[in-house]
Amino acid sequence: MILSKVKKKVVFLTGTRADFGKLKSLISVLQSDSKFIVDVFVTGMHLQKKYGFTVNEIIEAGFKNIFKFKNFVNDPSMEVILANTIKGFSKYIKKNKPDLIVIHGDRVEALAGAIAGAINNVLVSHIEGGEVSGTIDESIRHAVSKFSHIHFTTDMSSKKRLIQLGEKSSNIFILGSPDFDLMKPSKMIPLSIAKDYYDINFIEYGILLFHPVTTELHKLEKDTKTLVAAVKKSKKNFIVIYPNNDSGSQFIIEEYLKNLDCERFKLFPSLRFEYFLSLLKASKLIIGNSSCGLREAPFFRVPTINIGTRQNRRSSLKSIINIPPMQGKILHAINASFNSGKMHTNPRLNFNLDSDKKFYQILVGNKIWNIPHQKNFHDISSIIYNKHFK
Ligand code: UDP
Repeated sequence: MILSKVKKKVVFLTGTRADFGKLKSLISVLQSDSKFIVDVFVTGMHLQKKYGFTVNEIIEAGFKNIFKFKNFVNDPSMEVILANTIKGFSKYIKKNKPDLIVIHGDRVEALAGAIAGAINNVLVSHIEGGEVSGTIDESIRHAVSKFSHIHFTTDMSSKKRLIQLGEKSSNIFILGSPDFDLMKPSKMIPLSIAKDYYDINFIEYGILLFHPVTTELHKLEKDTKTLVAAVKKSKKNFIVIYPNNDSGSQFIIEEYLKNLDCERFKLFPSLRFEYFLSLLKASKLIIGNSSCGLREAPFFRVPTINIGTRQNRRSSLKSIINIPPMQGKILHAINASFNSGKMHTNPRLNFNLDSDKKFYQILVGNKIWNIPHQKNFHDISSIIYNKHFK
């Protein structure tokens, strides 16, 4: 149990649907215990109409103590959004004095949270560090880990990578992926409700979710046009979801609006997490480069067509077809996936459905509250050197 009788204030920072789905069960489990005061700092895409104004989802989930901060004013550059978020979160920290900051993943909002927290000497914990991918996310994720004192990873491989980054093994906890907490059959929303809510009449359909790769913006126009042409040519139905707000996303949205405005395509800025999960579970495939093609889709045994480098080296499951953005290959993969039925996935994948309980057990214990705020690089360079370079 927590040593001190004093309540611990924990703030969760969320900037997009992508991190909210992974924080939701963790926020709930702490809010239900009076030993914790739980704040939710909401920023980023959540407060943009263009991306679905998903702050409403957070309010409707019944979470209390919501602090809204608009980090996007005129300039959509990611580094400006980073700077704005640092400013806004720094103000929150100074006023509200949290004991622990919880952030997720690899977006600029998470980086802002980690920087502002570490510099203000507040414990920072990071969910899903130690993973590998493409785009600028790869660098942001590792940078966030270096500013974090506590790590909650998906699996052992991520833990090992964090150790390689100089993080201390005893401060790294394997949690699994907390979005799976909401994928238990008992938590799933019936498909008919999700379909009614979004007025979707398709019997068979795929899901298209494609983000820009910020390190390859010179290819964005060609890749987007190729993908859009292929889904059009496939003659299949698609639920099309807008990308996140990374540099280049406006071009993708405009291509969708120009080319996919017909009955076979239903376009949405964003779907509510639980509704999205039900629709994903019943879909014939997910195509694009979203992380949920590598996480949630394999869990539901839905085929994934993963295009390009955004999710580089992240997973080698059999249900995931990795292809370059070429029309012939995309069309072939769409047809094959529509005909394939449910996929086999690797049973070794960490489908832990109780991340929230594990998280709670760790937070209610003494150990993490005593983790020093001064980080020390855990040096294994001589071991690596001796093994590989001697
Ligand atoms: N997601 C959601 N609603 C949507 C699309 C996605 O709740 O309309 C969730 C999805 O389940 C996944 C997360 O958002 O957990 C990540 O999706 P996204 O492709 O936006 O971001 P990425 O993780 O690839 O950066």
